[in-house]
Amino acid sequence: MVEPRFIVGQINVGAELASASELSNAHANPIVKKRVFSGVQPTGNIHIGNYLGAIRNWVAEQTEYDNIFCIVDLHAITMPIDPQELHRSTRQLAALYVACGLDTRYCKLFVQSHVHEHAEMSWILGCFTPMGWLNRMTQFKTKAGENPDSVSTGLYCYPVLMACDILLYHTDLVPVGEDQRQHVELTRDLAQRFNSLYGQQVFTIPEAQIRKVGARIMSLDDPTKKMSKSDPNANSRINLLDDPKTIKQKIARATTDSLRSVTFDPDRPGITNLLTIYQLLTGQSQQEIEAEFAGKGYGDFKAALTERMVATLAPIQQRYNELMNDLPTLEAILKQGADEVRPLAEATLKHVKDVIGLG
Ligand code: ATP
Ligand code: MG
Repeated sequence: MVEPRFIVGQINVGAELASASELSNAHANPIVKKRVFSGVQPTGNIHIGNYLGAIRNWVAEQTEYDNIFCIVDLHAITMPIDPQELHRSTRQLAALYVACGLDTRYCKLFVQSHVHEHAEMSWILGCFTPMGWLNRMTQFKTKAGENPDSVSTGLYCYPVLMACDILLYHTDLVPVGEDQRQHVELTRDLAQRFNSLYGQQVFTIPEAQIRKVGARIMSLDDPTKKMSKSDPNANSRINLLDDPKTIKQKIARATTDSLRSVTFDPDRPGITNLLTIYQLLTGQSQQEIEAEFAGKGYGDFKAALTERMVATLAPIQQRYNELMNDLPTLEAILKQGADEVRPLAEATLKHVKDVIGLG
């Protein structure tokens, strides 16, 4: 029996997640909300690329879906990270999720390592993952850089863990930035391969949900690279917690070009990246923005972008500070989220183990 909370148009106040049997019914019922799953690594400062490419879209559509959002701390240890920083970043990210507008009435928020089924499933699915498939993953190549032999095997197997994150919850949609498209494709391939190997629909096949605009916000200093938390250059990104003075300085330094016109142009990636950010923050069309800055220079445009950025981030920062001053509430949100999603993960893992003859 599908509970009313899953019916489109009804509010999901204080509801629990579907049980495994509800889930299978849910997938046969066209009026049931689709399940969304996504996550961010607590690897440092959350930036405007994470916000515009992912979190903001989750917030905008949260009432339409049955949402699970994770803080993927097991992914964060694939590269060296200080233990205290990891612990702090995990809480900071939880606070930012809520400060950005994720509402626990519509979303389950939890920490990946609080649900140990992710790690266990990852071992199992890894045994069904051809090395050749992982060898093609471009994120591994980028992150391993010049030293592929000395990075951890965890970094190499990262896409398998990400596939498990998604598949444990019978996810329909995975809203992510463009950089994660390849990993979601791999997830689909792994799920299809497993299902066909055992002749059963063990896993739901998920789809990536990637926006046309904002799916790849570029670095401020090198607009040929994506903006990243792990970029060693702090001036390459605007963090959600940057103060107005820092934002102003970073935007003033952002790479543009020697031309003067404030126009969208794929051959001018620096100014186009800044204009795209402005477009997302203002909701204006490209034509409206070009008209606004016709006859004006980069200085005028950067001042307007700074003003808009500061105005967007101010309420998020205020809410964030309130939450960080009330850590027990934050911990309670994370505990509740983990308690609610765990039965789903357990059910999927049990199904997988039964199918392959473990236990
Ligand atoms: P790291 O450098 O640690 O990998 P990251 O900035 O890539 O950090 P992730 O935690 O890996 O951030 O990604 C979180 C979400 O943000 C994902 O959905 C990812 O696709 C999205 N995302 C990351 N960078 C960008 C970007 N530059 N533009 C748009 N979306 C992005
Ligand atoms: Mg990343």
